[in-house]
Amino acid sequence: MLHEQILEDADILSVFFEECNVAYLITDESLCIRRIYDPARLLSPVSVLVEGANLLQLAPELFGNEQILTDISNGKEKRIQIDLVNRVDENGDTHYLRILLRPRFLKGDSIAGGLMCLIEDVTDVGRIQQGLMQSRNELLLLRDALDAKNRELTASNLELRKQIEMNTSFVSIAAHELRTPLAIIRGYADMLLDEALGGLVEPQREGLTILRESADRLLEIVTNLLDLARLEAGRIELVMQPLDLGALVQATAREFRPLFQNANQQLTVIIAPDLPAALCDETRAFQILGNLLSNASKYTPRDGQIDLRVDLMQESGEIQVSVHDNGIGIPADEQARMGDLFFRARTADMISTYGVGMGLNITRSLVQLHGGRFWFESEEGNGSTFYATFLLANPTES
Ligand code: ADP
Repeated sequence: MLHEQILEDADILSVFFEECNVAYLITDESLCIRRIYDPARLLSPVSVLVEGANLLQLAPELFGNEQILTDISNGKEKRIQIDLVNRVDENGDTHYLRILLRPRFLKGDSIAGGLMCLIEDVTDVGRIQQGLMQSRNELLLLRDALDAKNRELTASNLELRKQIEMNTSFVSIAAHELRTPLAIIRGYADMLLDEALGGLVEPQREGLTILRESADRLLEIVTNLLDLARLEAGRIELVMQPLDLGALVQATAREFRPLFQNANQQLTVIIAPDLPAALCDETRAFQILGNLLSNASKYTPRDGQIDLRVDLMQESGEIQVSVHDNGIGIPADEQARMGDLFFRARTADMISTYGVGMGLNITRSLVQLHGGRFWFESEEGNGSTFYATFLLANPTES
């Protein structure tokens, strides 16, 4: 009786199911289909479902779940749900179903077992989920490819770093080894020019002067190469200490004065009064100033004017050194490349001065290493001003 009752209830539900595009099957305890309601042929789009067929034949996705199906049929388990079961219709379109299996009898009834199988068309959700899954898989593939590329890049970087280190240490060793014999050559040239080893006739003096100048240039190149290699390897260590930058600027100007005198250039030094101490490495600060002064002299014609200034910049809390000249200047279209390694402006080439384009690059790096800023202003034919700033030893003093 109760069995019939259930079937009647199912008939009532059929109307509702049809509207919702839902199908159902009822099986007996041996999973044999006893009743089918599937007007849209959701479960078996290409062949007609027949009563008496086995549920597993119609839904092979359930294979392997026989035990749980039996348990549901016996009321030991409540339900099983299988999502995204796909079926291809006569047109070749894929549909997605959700299959829910419950015991056939109502709770508390003790009639023979069997299953109630609800089939719901979830094609819209299924397609979205499939699309998401595909995107996710594509993303995973992309991530793998990216990982592989990253590994390749890390390996190349390592190789490159090794190469750079090798080159750097080669340049360091070569420059270091060249420096000593060059210094000796220069020392002997000095001694000979001072006639410490005997009197000289004029052609000998001229020859020795050229020899000493060439040794000086070579020493400058070698020293610059050594600095570049150290900077590149991050091996320049500054000994930072509070320093009277005004006094250092005066001392540097004194040292370079012969250079300006030889070219009949006027060097004016203006140091702001009561300058607080700057935080500097004295040797490297001297090198920065020296490079800017020698460039100012080199790229300014005879009788030119060079102004060396030291000012306290209240706003930024820095000490600013500037070297202004009224020399050849730098063409506007080349200014962006200034400071690039080995770059020389065409104005420098035009006056055929000697140079290799390393000094400015080193100077800028040294200023930045001090925590300062480095820049310039220039107009072709109208001179240049180079600026370097240094931090205050005690920033609260500014
Ligand atoms: P070098 O003087 O050996 O060429 P630097 O690195 O010191 O190398 O300078 C790079 C280039 O910058 C110079 O060749 C020159 O073209 C330009 N330059 C530097 N200082 C000045 C200056 N005061 N006036 C004009 N040009 C300058």
